[in-house]
Amino acid sequence: MDNKHVAVIGGGLGALSGAIRLARLGFSVQLFEKNEKIGGKVNEVALGGYRFDTGASLLTMPSVIDELFDFAGFNRSDYLDLVPIDPICRYFFSDSSVMDASADKAKMKNAIAQLSTDDVEAYERFLKYAERIHDVTAEIFMFTPIHEFKKLIKPRHFQTLFRLHQIDPFRTVHQSVSRFFSDPRLVQLFDRYATYNGSDPFQAPATLNIIPYIEYGLGGYYIKGGIYRLIDALETVACELGVQIHTSTRVEEICHDGKRVSGVQVNGEKVETDYVLCGADAVVAHDELIDGYQHRSEKLNRLEPSLSGMVFLWGVRAKHQKLAHHNIIFSSDYDAEFKQIFKNQRVPDDPTIYIAITNKTDTGHAPADGENWFVLLNMPYLVPGQMWKKEKVRMRSVVLNKLKRVGFDIMDRIEVEQIYTPEDFSELYASNQGSIYGVSSNSRTTAFKRLPNRSRVLERLYFAGGSVHPGGGIPLVILSGKMAAMLIAEDHASKL
Ligand SMILES: Cc1cc2nc3c(=O)[nH]c(=O)nc-3n(C[C@H](O)[C@H](O)[C@H](O)COP(=O)(O)OP(=O)(O)OC[C@H]3O[C@@H](n4cnc5c(N)ncnc54)[C@H](O)[C@@H]3O)c2cc1C
Repeated sequence: MDNKHVAVIGGGLGALSGAIRLARLGFSVQLFEKNEKIGGKVNEVALGGYRFDTGASLLTMPSVIDELFDFAGFNRSDYLDLVPIDPICRYFFSDSSVMDASADKAKMKNAIAQLSTDDVEAYERFLKYAERIHDVTAEIFMFTPIHEFKKLIKPRHFQTLFRLHQIDPFRTVHQSVSRFFSDPRLVQLFDRYATYNGSDPFQAPATLNIIPYIEYGLGGYYIKGGIYRLIDALETVACELGVQIHTSTRVEEICHDGKRVSGVQVNGEKVETDYVLCGADAVVAHDELIDGYQHRSEKLNRLEPSLSGMVFLWGVRAKHQKLAHHNIIFSSDYDAEFKQIFKNQRVPDDPTIYIAITNKTDTGHAPADGENWFVLLNMPYLVPGQMWKKEKVRMRSVVLNKLKRVGFDIMDRIEVEQIYTPEDFSELYASNQGSIYGVSSNSRTTAFKRLPNRSRVLERLYFAGGSVHPGGGIPLVILSGKMAAMLIAEDHASKL
């Protein structure tokens, strides 16, 4: 053995990003995924004549994907057709007003003016403020493994450290958004961005106002054919580079001698490797895969998981001209919705409903007279006492009734259906308490408390994915895989 063997746990995007980079750097990589196919929370299903993405539906920061292809020596545009989405999202407010949000500044200002002329100028100021947060934080918080002291203390980071007061960490997202916008509908719209990493706008620090800049400043995208095409493309690249992918193969244990990892156990047998890159949820991995570190597990279990969700996939035999590719039907009281989710950890009475219909852009995803609805509700992470089997039946009728009230009566038009609850997310992707973005960012210190990309307890063990730095969402998990792979490569080089 030439000391360059790596076992990668899980076939999610963080793991794939790490596996591809390591293979490109000359490591021999074996990737183990417990499910029948790779992709993790980026997944797809076909039901009858309808095709659905079952997880991620909106792509931001496409440059992160381009960089991964470049690093691997491939050209992204040969594999993936990224389509800018306009409007990025159609918002339906509880007073029956509707607004199309767009990355096109003129269109967006016009749409805001229809709701509130006073807030047009506020939008300009808000975008500048969000861009400033991006400029100050992106390099350190998104592109640097911040738990690595030596990497943090670089001359190019000093300027950022001195500007940290500009990132608005002491107010919540909601407090800050409310200072810019006078119209409560716009406050609700911009509050929503905290949910992009699974957090509560009424608790999360206003630093998360970076997210609207990422969406409106850099754009929101769809991948022609469906978001799952990203996984197909990365699988092709990984295989071309020699990554051996083992699906339907659960890693049962991360083997170690108390100091350093020595491989993984699959099917009762040890696969010896020099490094392990864990792309499975790191909290669950400490609970279930790493023996002998109970204290570490207990500490990690104190981190608050992110939002979970309930998803309805509905093949609807009807056409709705009033719906766009992405749609949000807001609840009437956002504060109450998030209190019920995060404080009471229960299903919200009046959930905000997100609907993505990819056949608005990809006509082949549904029959000519139909639409493929992916419907997502924010839900609490799993705690004892919740009853998801009952809740999914109850929420189905709550959602269908609310849709009917706002003019989309699809009750008798649903031809095919599949429902996912937080229990399903936990089961399918082994995510911590069914969370869909890893750890929440509901406190000012979460960015630092989130798990590092290098294990604190075992040498030669590294982590990627939504539960570790820099957090959840497609671009960030791809960056986590980059950080973990670079740490492995550097550690390996230093030992030669
Ligand atoms: C409903 C939903 C909507 C979302 N919407 C968006 C969106 O619009 N935009 C966006 O950017 N992001 C979105 N996200 C988040 C995004 O999909 C995730 O952050 C990202 O895909 C997670 O990647 P990951 O690397 O953490 O791996 P995961 O996707 O969590 O995959 C981990 C993999 O590891 C496997 N695994 C676990 N344990 C083991 C083991 N012991 N052995 C072998 N394999 C194992 C699991 O089966 C799984 O396949 C959404 C997620 C969900 C669920």
